[in-house]
Amino acid sequence: MSFANKLIAWYRSEGRDLPWRKTQDPYIIWLSEVILQQTRVEQGLPYFYTFVEHFPSVAEFAAANEDEVLRLWQGLGYYSRARNMHKAAKIVVQDYQGQFPCDYEDLLSLPGVGEYTAAAISSFSVGECKAVLDGNVFRVLARVFGIPTAINTGEGKKLFQALAQDLISTSDPGTYNHAIMDFGATVCKPKAPLCGDCIFRGECAALEEDTVALLPVKLKAKKSRDRYFNYFVIEDDGMILMSKRGSEDVWANMYEFPLIETKDKLELEELIHTEEYRTAFGDAVVKPLGGVTKHVLSHQNIYARFFRLPNAKDVLEKKDTWHYFLLENLDKLAKHKLVFSFIDKYL
Ligand code: SF4
Repeated sequence: MSFANKLIAWYRSEGRDLPWRKTQDPYIIWLSEVILQQTRVEQGLPYFYTFVEHFPSVAEFAAANEDEVLRLWQGLGYYSRARNMHKAAKIVVQDYQGQFPCDYEDLLSLPGVGEYTAAAISSFSVGECKAVLDGNVFRVLARVFGIPTAINTGEGKKLFQALAQDLISTSDPGTYNHAIMDFGATVCKPKAPLCGDCIFRGECAALEEDTVALLPVKLKAKKSRDRYFNYFVIEDDGMILMSKRGSEDVWANMYEFPLIETKDKLELEELIHTEEYRTAFGDAVVKPLGGVTKHVLSHQNIYARFFRLPNAKDVLEKKDTWHYFLLENLDKLAKHKLVFSFIDKYL
């Protein structure tokens, strides 16, 4: 039996029954694919249901305001993906009369849709013969065929893409794509793969050569930059001061507390003598809240500290992006994880 037919036969008896696999609607598939790039299936499911419920059609998604989209996305991280989804929905309404495209090339032209997502949507919805290549597929192919080329290099991507395209079932590309990803997620897992029960155990090069734990090969990413975020919690008569981030940095346009970023880790004494602190808060009393929280993003580590300023409202020089909100209305603002976790714990 061919590689593809083995996988399809395995999938028909062992594959997971997930809600987005029952549809050929490209809009619903797109929602599920973008959400699942962020998270594992169990964590992604509630987000999938929330988006489908709030925006049953792409027209409703396009008509939503961005704050609402970001609020529903809250907790998934990589907020630029949510923004790109929103832009893509608007383009579908304007340029495709609200009919979500199924064609690979049309899909690629939408913001946030790369080769993987375009291959997934076009193969699942209309059976276009485009092989998906995600982390699961890289792993399965690297191991079964014993390929030591690093997957995060131009050469690796080309090689694996060509192999994936060679192997795809031309008669049932959609099911094949589901099958290889599911197989990678549940059998040929990153750690502790189920080699003993595997359909490829008789032919898997990595198993034969004892290199399962070494494949796939990935080159080390470049060193991350450290950033130090000092947040100030300022309350005034049941209201809390929130700041909207700019559009150029991480967490673009999301809400957080007034922030002073420093290049290095400063002691509190040093922090309150910085020019930025003096300008904004004068000599307001400051009380630390909790310790340092480390938040890892791609290529940056954020070290956040929170401080309460109990009587800063009198000495404050408010920036244009700072506004008071009622405490009970904070739920309605799109906030990044550092801030909503802090609010859950302390406010
Ligand atoms: S034998 Fe093990 S390493 Fe090889 S494909 Fe199967 S699960 Fe993956």
